[in-house]
Amino acid sequence: MTERVRRYWRRRNRHWPGRGFRLQVARRTLQVGVLVLLVVIPTLSLYDNLRNQRDEVGIEARWDTSLVHQLVEDLDDPSRVTQSVRGSVWTLKVGELVISDPLAVIDFIGAARVIFDHFLITALIPVLASLLLGRVFCGWLCPADLLFELGTKIRGWTGIETDVGFARITKFAILALGLVAGVVLGTQIFAEIYPPRIIGGELYLWITFGVVSAGAWFFLALLAFEIFVSRRFWCRYICPGGALYSLLGRWRILRLTLVAQECTDCTRCNAVCEFGLDPMRGRFGQECNNCGLCVRACAPGALVYRVGLRPRDGRDVLPAAEAQVS
Ligand code: SF4
Ligand code: SF4
Repeated sequence: MTERVRRYWRRRNRHWPGRGFRLQVARRTLQVGVLVLLVVIPTLSLYDNLRNQRDEVGIEARWDTSLVHQLVEDLDDPSRVTQSVRGSVWTLKVGELVISDPLAVIDFIGAARVIFDHFLITALIPVLASLLLGRVFCGWLCPADLLFELGTKIRGWTGIETDVGFARITKFAILALGLVAGVVLGTQIFAEIYPPRIIGGELYLWITFGVVSAGAWFFLALLAFEIFVSRRFWCRYICPGGALYSLLGRWRILRLTLVAQECTDCTRCNAVCEFGLDPMRGRFGQECNNCGLCVRACAPGALVYRVGLRPRDGRDVLPAAEAQVS
């Protein structure tokens, strides 16, 4: 690394190429990977349909299906590859493994008013991950989070500072009300308003039929609202999935912790936190998604990951000697 590059990063008071940076590279790679997967799944499904109809012309007419054709045509059984991954972030099937968003499970079971054991089990991995790692789906996998974070960047680039706050409890109320309404009306409420599900559904429509539905406009309106009126409005105040993951992650054992002696009260960590938390005081609460943006922003390295129980007073603060730096 040249001295010039070093100086640039020092000016920006960032770690390069420290753990905070590496963490963000890993996070962005995963987020982009999920978005790519949401494009690949409908493309494979479309290719499969065209191949079953022996529609060679249809396959060659599109660059994406034609590319898939070139990749799988020499295989003995192309359908083993093209059918190996199905679904979306709502319910994903990879080979024989089925993983469902816990919100999808309670939404479906509530609407059907029947407990399907086999469906319940498909939420086990995300539930366990949230109990161990906190609200990580939001910060590391949700495709909506990536786009909403882009909205925050646009706010920064354009100098928009308007930020109307709402009560955080709203999202828990929406989770409870949506569940009750789903049971009473016998319909899946959350499926209609959940951004990751909307993104997956709209990509499917666009790739398969070349159209988008009202969901796309709903999402764009939401993004515009976040850019112009309220930073991270949906995830902070409204999202029922975020509410559920927050509840599950309340007693997470991978916890960010403030090493009090190292902190210089510069407030950078609080400024970058997308969820409006207070890492500078060790108040990560149940909503922290372990995204590590605050770790990256903290020049003296006062924020570290540790494995442990939730402190009684809810404040994750450690003296330096006890900190286990990740
Ligand atoms: S709160 Fe909802 S939309 Fe936001 S990141 Fe979490 S699951 Fe995605
Ligand atoms: S406190 Fe840090 S890790 Fe937690 S959500 Fe905020 S920026 Fe991300």
